[in-house]
Amino acid sequence: MFVSNRLPVTITRTDDGLDFQPSIGGLATGLASVHEERESLWVGWAGLCESELSDSERTVLEQRLKDDFHSLPVYLSEEEMDKYYYGFSNRTIWPLFHYFTNYAEYDHDQWATYQAVNRKFFDQLTPILDSGDTIWVHDYQLLLLPAMIREKHPDASIGFFLHIPFPSYEIFRLLPWRKELLEGVLGADLIGFHTYDYVRHFLSSARRLCGYEHNLGYLNVGNRLAKADVFPMGINYQRYHHAYDRLATQEEAADIVKKVHGTQVVLSVDRLDYTKGIPERVKSFSQFLRDHPEYREKVTMILIVAPSRTKVDTYTDLLKEVQEQISDTNGEHGTMGWMPVWFFYRSFGFDSLTALYAISDVLLCTPLRDGMNLVAKEYIAARADKKGMLVLSETAGAASELGEAVIVNPNNIQEVADGIQKALEMTVVSKIEKNTVMHKRLENYDVTYWARDFLNKLNDVAAKQHSGGSIRLTEKRQAEMATAYKRSEKRLMMLDYDGTLREFVDKPEDAKPTAAIYTILEELAADKRNEVLLISGRDRYCLEDWFGKLDVNLVAAHGMWIRPVGEDWSVTETLTSAWKETIRPVLEVHTARTPGSLIEEKDYSLAWHYRRCEPDMAAVRVSELTDALQDMTKNLNIGLLKGNKVIEIKDTTINKGRAASIWLTRGSWEFIFVAGDDWTDEDMFAIVPPEAFSVKVGTGVSQANYRVDSVKEVHRILRKLISA
Ligand code: UDP
Repeated sequence: MFVSNRLPVTITRTDDGLDFQPSIGGLATGLASVHEERESLWVGWAGLCESELSDSERTVLEQRLKDDFHSLPVYLSEEEMDKYYYGFSNRTIWPLFHYFTNYAEYDHDQWATYQAVNRKFFDQLTPILDSGDTIWVHDYQLLLLPAMIREKHPDASIGFFLHIPFPSYEIFRLLPWRKELLEGVLGADLIGFHTYDYVRHFLSSARRLCGYEHNLGYLNVGNRLAKADVFPMGINYQRYHHAYDRLATQEEAADIVKKVHGTQVVLSVDRLDYTKGIPERVKSFSQFLRDHPEYREKVTMILIVAPSRTKVDTYTDLLKEVQEQISDTNGEHGTMGWMPVWFFYRSFGFDSLTALYAISDVLLCTPLRDGMNLVAKEYIAARADKKGMLVLSETAGAASELGEAVIVNPNNIQEVADGIQKALEMTVVSKIEKNTVMHKRLENYDVTYWARDFLNKLNDVAAKQHSGGSIRLTEKRQAEMATAYKRSEKRLMMLDYDGTLREFVDKPEDAKPTAAIYTILEELAADKRNEVLLISGRDRYCLEDWFGKLDVNLVAAHGMWIRPVGEDWSVTETLTSAWKETIRPVLEVHTARTPGSLIEEKDYSLAWHYRRCEPDMAAVRVSELTDALQDMTKNLNIGLLKGNKVIEIKDTTINKGRAASIWLTRGSWEFIFVAGDDWTDEDMFAIVPPEAFSVKVGTGVSQANYRVDSVKEVHRILRKLISA
């Protein structure tokens, strides 16, 4: 299933009713063959507002979309369009992600509508989703959708592709709802970007804002796996390339050449957008003419600006600025027989555009910031004789693939002016040589390749989700587990706390049990067939304080202390903690050098927490500390345990497994459930009988039989058992 803001269909109202035409945009044509082959469904907005359609038109629209385009429409009201599309998408995300921080608006009302519309998309697609389906979500209008789908359909394969840049962390952090947006995207298994820089920025934000570390682009998200990777989007190369074959018969092209009186042509094609650097571009052309009077009457700039987002004020202001700049240039350099800049403020169709591409000597493509820029690629493909040259901005995503072009900094007016000269004066041999390399690349990595590559990688990530020893606890297996639970009379439920029943927070003392956790524990304990055991690394005072009043057995300090229901706390082993005096000074030195870290002292262990530290620095410190401690602990009966953002140093004679075995040997259990999230829980997984339901929360190799993604899922499973 594909989901994007717009459906790949252009619907217009004619005298005969609604007219349906397939869209020719990059995404639509790129996915067309895959869409057809997979018999998938495309969900998106049909381009008409809800109020514009009568009931009978709606019926026609839905039927036509279903039959001819395998599409399902999402209806949006005018207000929703205003606040979600023109608002949050184009007044907040668009400017910010393109580094125009001063244009970004932070409006709560628009944000609320953005959330609501993402939910609307979700509501439309969820009834038709099967648990193992593949869903590919597109672009910045739907950043929250992947997590919404993930929550309801944990087994789905979800891909997300961002068609615009992902900004550096310093920019992204300005957004009031930065965490929500990141968590939204991270619901996907695979997150695709046009360039490696965008991937780096995304990974850096995920780590700094949400604490998700990554390894070669794989992130552990709420303890599941997500991969961020590069998929530079291509064009429909053959379509543009073969347009050239029709050139000889094309009157339009001949006409343009005649009209520009045989001068050379510098072409510029964009949507009207402040990210495109249009005024700066005209200024550069003017500077070029100033520097090279010999080019007067010998070169013409054809400037095509397609109207867009006319409802956003910044775009109307921009149009004025462009017009003034053109007028200045023509006024300064023009002659009676020659106008330097020809300006067209309208959209050109495929035939006209490719004719222009084919006769232009230079394409001047200098966006200040652009996710990819397809025009640059289309020009190269369409100028099939390879005698054109591209001047390309280094801040366009396409620059990372089209390095043979003349690459310029769009803010450096002089550099762009020099670039125009360089491109105009490049020898034919040199142009053909450079173009040949670029053609090959565009031909190989066309848009269909892009789509298939993404979907194949999505499959790979899905396969990886299922490896690591344990099997995903799918809905089906959960149902089987509930049946086994229902049938048994003697059940042992062993539950870890942090990372299993409760999500991690910055400070360990803040991870207090929620009302939902209390309800689950109380309801489990209320069933006489259950023996509930809360087994944690926390100290006994904390467990007593939080759970002392419940009818659940408590195990503290990884098995050091136990408190069976109705009894007092007692020590499971007699230990000495004299070793702490040797270790503590080392931890103190590291804590002083690492802002945000802290030492926690427990009865028979010391823990060094680094959740609140700057992640890059923490990574270095963890490795230094581990080295130092490993040397010191060699001759002592103590070991290092690496937990989630914590290193714990403790006596190795105690572990959760030994404490769990006390309960395991107490009865003949018909149903055993054990859940945990980190290394310390592996000792429990190792000692339970093979038929037990052992569940690891998160990714990574584990001895548990099953695996789930998140704390939320653990809650859902426990509630399912309770109501079985
Ligand atoms: N385009 C068009 N007619 C025009 C101007 C542009 O069909 O008059 C098309 C162009 O061929 C390209 C797309 O609009 O496929 C613009 O894509 P690009 O990635 O360059 O910029 P975006 O508009 O997505 O920021």
